[in-house]
Amino acid sequence: MEEFQRIILVHYHEIGLKGRNRGVFEKRLQKNLEALLGAFPVVTIHRISGRLLVFLREGTGHDEANACADAILGVPGVARVSCGFKCDREMAIMGQAAVAALTDAGAFESFKVSARRNHTDFEIDSMQMNRDIGEVLCEAFPDKAVKMKDPDVTVGVEVVQNAVYVYARSIRGIGGLPVGSSGRVVALLSSGIDSPVALWRMARRGAVPIGVHFSGRPQTADTSEFLVDDIAHVLERTGCIARVYVVPFGDYQREISIGCPPSLRVILYRRLMFKVAEEIARRERAGALVTGESLGQVASQTLENIAATNDAVTLPVLRPLIGSDKLEIIDQAQQLGTFDISSMDAPDCCTLFMPRNPETHAKLDEVREAEAKFPIADWVQALADAAEPHDYRCPAYKPKK
Ligand code: ATP
Ligand code: MG
Repeated sequence: MEEFQRIILVHYHEIGLKGRNRGVFEKRLQKNLEALLGAFPVVTIHRISGRLLVFLREGTGHDEANACADAILGVPGVARVSCGFKCDREMAIMGQAAVAALTDAGAFESFKVSARRNHTDFEIDSMQMNRDIGEVLCEAFPDKAVKMKDPDVTVGVEVVQNAVYVYARSIRGIGGLPVGSSGRVVALLSSGIDSPVALWRMARRGAVPIGVHFSGRPQTADTSEFLVDDIAHVLERTGCIARVYVVPFGDYQREISIGCPPSLRVILYRRLMFKVAEEIARRERAGALVTGESLGQVASQTLENIAATNDAVTLPVLRPLIGSDKLEIIDQAQQLGTFDISSMDAPDCCTLFMPRNPETHAKLDEVREAEAKFPIADWVQALADAAEPHDYRCPAYKPKK
């Protein structure tokens, strides 16, 4: 059988809706994919009428092509990925390409052909193409059924100006917007289950996320830092994290725990974390903070405590999980691949110097009064200066010099 050039079609519905900004989004997604697919045999990526076309190197096998498609699925902005071939505008060749594409589509019982012409300079109309290519497929797969409504596989045939794209295996992508199309955020990133999901959700809406992790070091070991690094490497695969700042926080917690009423400790730790994250956001020119809080999930995540931490900063604090159920968050963490890492035990700053009865309904004036005893502004600068940046591959992010 003839060899055809393997291609992967990347569809991006939501970007298509964005009207005026469409060109910018398309270019962003193209750049992100170019950078993220470095390890795959990709020759080039083109933009054609409402989708991206990934050309694979000659001789690329179907396993390699599928692996590349799987890598594309999780990239924000990708609504659907289809695997197939590019071929000449000749019915006999198109039929062969359709057989090849369907052969690679995995197990199926029923199929149909869905052909279309983007250029009417092709003499055969789509109905006729459906019939002719369908016939070829029926001969090649005699024990499979043609089914017009909900077939297992739809063989797509698209005739464009100088070529035809034929594909069969087609899978839904993660959706959303390309990372780098919605500004920059600073996400408070623990090694727990929730905050990696919160950060990822903002990436899927197109924000470039920069993590800030507060470690108990030097009062605890640095285990949580390794877990956060593992989590960041998972998020990096789809370009969903740019950088993580690790802040050694243990000594400051110790100071606070000695000099403040035990019930207010946690709130003061958290206010200091927010202020340091805000200072890092200022230095990074980020527009918002992000946390993994979910209303009522733990005793400290009450409306009063949310107010008490918001009061510490002026930047907007985004909480993408605020209305999510724990089981939904766990499901998403499992899909993302961060759940197993997050389930490992690590002492971080949150397990350090915990009071027996933390305040769950903090009163703002008491919190502010307790905090006034500490040189907070100096601490914020010192902690932001001490923050250690770790960089990850995120095509949309250029660190400043
Ligand atoms: P997670 O599962 O994200 O650890 P949690 O259920 O443990 O959250 P909290 O401890 O109340 O809940 O933390 C709430 C949010 O505060 C976290 O989602 C995260 O955004 C931030 N946070 C908590 N601990 C840290 C830390 N050590 N470093 C950075 N951010 C943190
Ligand atoms: Mg936690």
